[in-house]
Amino acid sequence: MAEKLIFELGRIDREGVSIPPDDLESLNIDELIPEELLRKRDPTLPEVSEVEVIRHYTRLSQLNFCVDTHFYPLGSCTMKYNPRIGEKLSTLEGFTSLHPYEPDELVQGVLKIMFDLGQYLCEIGGFDAITLQPSAGAHGELTGLLIIRAYHETKGRKRSKVIIPDSAHGTNPASCTLAGYKAIEIKSGKDGCIDLKRLQEELDEETAAVMITNPNTLGIFEEEILRIAEITHSVGALLYGDGANLNALMGITRPGDMGFDVLHFNLHKTFAAPHGGGGPGSGPVAVKKELEPFLPVPVIVKKDGKYTLDYNRPLSIGKVKSFYGNLPVIIKAYIYIRMMGAQGLKRVSENAVLNARYVINRLKGAFDLPYNKPPMHEGVLSGKKFREYGVRTLDIAKRLLDYGFHPPTIYFPLIVEEALMIEPTETETKETLDAFIEAMLKIAEEAVKTPELLKSAPHTTPVKRLDEVKAAKELKLRWKEYK
Ligand SMILES: *Cc1c(COP(=O)(O)O)cnc(C)c1O
Repeated sequence: MAEKLIFELGRIDREGVSIPPDDLESLNIDELIPEELLRKRDPTLPEVSEVEVIRHYTRLSQLNFCVDTHFYPLGSCTMKYNPRIGEKLSTLEGFTSLHPYEPDELVQGVLKIMFDLGQYLCEIGGFDAITLQPSAGAHGELTGLLIIRAYHETKGRKRSKVIIPDSAHGTNPASCTLAGYKAIEIKSGKDGCIDLKRLQEELDEETAAVMITNPNTLGIFEEEILRIAEITHSVGALLYGDGANLNALMGITRPGDMGFDVLHFNLHKTFAAPHGGGGPGSGPVAVKKELEPFLPVPVIVKKDGKYTLDYNRPLSIGKVKSFYGNLPVIIKAYIYIRMMGAQGLKRVSENAVLNARYVINRLKGAFDLPYNKPPMHEGVLSGKKFREYGVRTLDIAKRLLDYGFHPPTIYFPLIVEEALMIEPTETETKETLDAFIEAMLKIAEEAVKTPELLKSAPHTTPVKRLDEVKAAKELKLRWKEYK
């Protein structure tokens, strides 16, 4: 049964909290507040007991699928398990009671954590300097592109465009536009990788940057990356790395060594902080030495064993965020890296790739694998063959809910028809992967034999198929409008 609204629970005059009667002299509210500001009638607040509130919200918290309850192979999003120790330590009083205006000498501990995290990320990515401020990957993209822009302007170059493959995440062209560049899309080659010839044709003195992710959004490693970096640099353009797929590479190879000049990290993906409905993000941006002067202020510097926030940076692009970034996410990433160690992070990437290859290999007979190369940490299948039965990828995704799995990402990347983008991550057991594979194989059978079952799915969830756009287009925030 659907959960009622909290306004529909309870009874008139039921109280959540009872306060003992006071013996203070009462004041007349009319004399304290101007008449026109006074409420004409009582607010319509829910009148519920404490236990009703607890049960209501506990039930609501369990209606959704989440990493803590279900396998969540949402491609591109790296929905790995978020270790509880991160929650515990990042909410220590010493962190939560910090005031952002405290002087540097009183917050040496947290500055050290931020400084050290920056160093670790530079080492993992192969870069020289970093900012931890951006709030998420997309914000990191914008920050990185503004740094690139400042770099070109300082050199007196007017550049107008950024080249992006057609497999790019939607935030990439959006960030280019926000940074004042024209996003030029190039078609991927038959193998799903950057087409060097097309790239060469577009590259010119107007090109500020080439923006790519490696492995790309198909989960395929761009083997020509060194050549891509070389021809990009040959026209004076820079190579921007969308680091959302870093979970495939840690401890194995480094974007900085591949020739990337700028890289954003998604701490909430690769470094195990809750995200999506579970919490805010963090998108640090690392750069090569020559871009360091343009980093946003403040930059954390260490001198004579002391940490300070340096604002005196004349070439800086300025501030991109109030204060210093999403600190709890930064702390969680720091804890995760310290806990895993260098060998541990390498194992993370090895297992992330192994898990993805296992799942894709077992599913590629029942579904199509449009780009048949060994996937890295994720792989993209297509449900195109089920169209003749009237079944779309959306139906497959909805049916997975009945089997107790959060669906993979669907309809992305855009270059794959009826795409199913599966990223199992390293934190899943073989038993879980097998159960997911069995469900997918069964659904592939159902699509042919009983397509209606898929088209009307999900059947077991508290609500059936939703109009996913309606809630965004017709916001209803007053409870009476629901009636
Ligand atoms: C998630 C993702 C982004 C955007 O990152 P956010 O942290 O969601 O803003 C960009 N590119 C790719 C490939 C991604 O997977």
